[in-house]
Amino acid sequence: MTTSHYIAGHWVEGQGSDCISVNDPALGQPFAELMAASVSQVDQAVAAARSALPAWKSTCASERAAFLRGFAEQLGQRREALVTLQMRNNGKPRHEAEIDLDDAIATFGYYAELAEQLPSKNCTVPLAAPGFTARTRLEPVGVVGLIVPWNFPLVTSAWKLAPALAAGCTVVLKPSEVTPLIEQAYGQIADALGLPAGVLNIVNGKAETGAALSNHNGLDKLSFTGSNSVGSQVMRSASAQCRPVTLELGGKSAIVVFDDCDVDQAVEWIVAGISWNAGQMCSATSRLLVQDGIADALLPRLQAALENLRVGNPLTEEVDMGPLTSQAQWLKVASYFATAREEGLQCLAGGHALDREGWFVSPTLYTDVPKDSRLWTEEIFGPVLCARRFASEEQAIAEANDSRFGLVATVCSADLERAERVADALDVGHVWINSVQAVFVETSWGGTKGSGIGRELGPWGLSAYQSVKHVTRCLG
Ligand code: NAD
Repeated sequence: MTTSHYIAGHWVEGQGSDCISVNDPALGQPFAELMAASVSQVDQAVAAARSALPAWKSTCASERAAFLRGFAEQLGQRREALVTLQMRNNGKPRHEAEIDLDDAIATFGYYAELAEQLPSKNCTVPLAAPGFTARTRLEPVGVVGLIVPWNFPLVTSAWKLAPALAAGCTVVLKPSEVTPLIEQAYGQIADALGLPAGVLNIVNGKAETGAALSNHNGLDKLSFTGSNSVGSQVMRSASAQCRPVTLELGGKSAIVVFDDCDVDQAVEWIVAGISWNAGQMCSATSRLLVQDGIADALLPRLQAALENLRVGNPLTEEVDMGPLTSQAQWLKVASYFATAREEGLQCLAGGHALDREGWFVSPTLYTDVPKDSRLWTEEIFGPVLCARRFASEEQAIAEANDSRFGLVATVCSADLERAERVADALDVGHVWINSVQAVFVETSWGGTKGSGIGRELGPWGLSAYQSVKHVTRCLG
């Protein structure tokens, strides 16, 4: 049993009623347990964040930057433990777990820099009218609740924590019940750095704990990453209190491959977009639109590439893809395999769970998938790729945009003018051209339409935790 809640600078045991099992998905077995936080512990965490706010928001920005640099350094010092824990609890291959850690480190470093630049953003506003002066102050939003999912636990938490702390907010973080141990590192680092008590609080739990946080009237803002169904509940509780909310939700993103591409290169980008993290990515490019002229050459090579992926236990084998992270996700993906069979979809690769212990599925490719198929329209969150052919650029744009989601897209073409034109025409928050999904802290993250509200990363990620105040003075 693990002590796993960090409230007001203390590690405490959960007093909630839910017992959380922490699983190794490659074995399908638990390796730790913890009790969820109770509703009153969520209250204590929010109260601790509230009482820490006045002092924290008054610290000079360079002091906050020093703490953020400390987070980056200390994450690096815990590298092996954090990489291994992500491999064990998420089922991530080692190289993916390493990249996640590096992303979190880069995020804290980046927001340390932005925090140092904050004083220069508080500036005089030139006015056309005589007789007045005005100045801007960027102030922290206040006490923020941060609710995150399990697919990139270190990363999604870093994308919220680092800018929130940089802005001068105090926080209550609720990690996913599927991966409740990984973000404990942030509490341990806060301890090691002597971060003032209450600035960072971590409560673990399932839906009840998440709802207690998102409904809490002691918050000034809530930032949520997760599914659309829970996101809409979170938005409802924010609307009941007229409180700002950032939502990073699901996706059903397109990868558009024009017939002037190098086939092998295109296959590499397509495979990366659907097999990274076993396809459990909000940004998975799970809808392949391939131009008629290249489809017959590309699809067999794509089939072979997916079938050749090494799938296995990242802790004991060298693998390209691990298991799905939870049994619930495994059952969900299996239910889509059943739907595909019922719909009579043409399966070129995979289409089944693996016959071994643990929550493994095979990398899967369906072709000529009808536009109204559930597999074409719904987020599956697994290594399941659906393909359709297109004739013209206009058709590709129309089909890519024909989705209730709008998170990301990838465009592959040797004609860079066309690739840029298509990128501009896609209704999404981020487009890659001729690339794997490289994410840089300086660029924004977030979606249009059903994929959410607001942006993380870059200066936009910091603005999400800031409130703009102007002070206008009459000179007369
Ligand atoms: P989820 O919505 O089930 O859970 C997310 C978090 O919300 C968890 O911490 C969970 O405990 C909590 N929660 C559950 N019920 C709640 C409630 N009623 N009130 C408040 N909190 C509650 O999502 P998941 O299965 O953990 O993650 C997968 C989803 O996350 C996918 O849809 C994926 O696309 C999305 N996601 C989006 C992004 C992005 O940046 N857009 C990034 C990662 C994941």
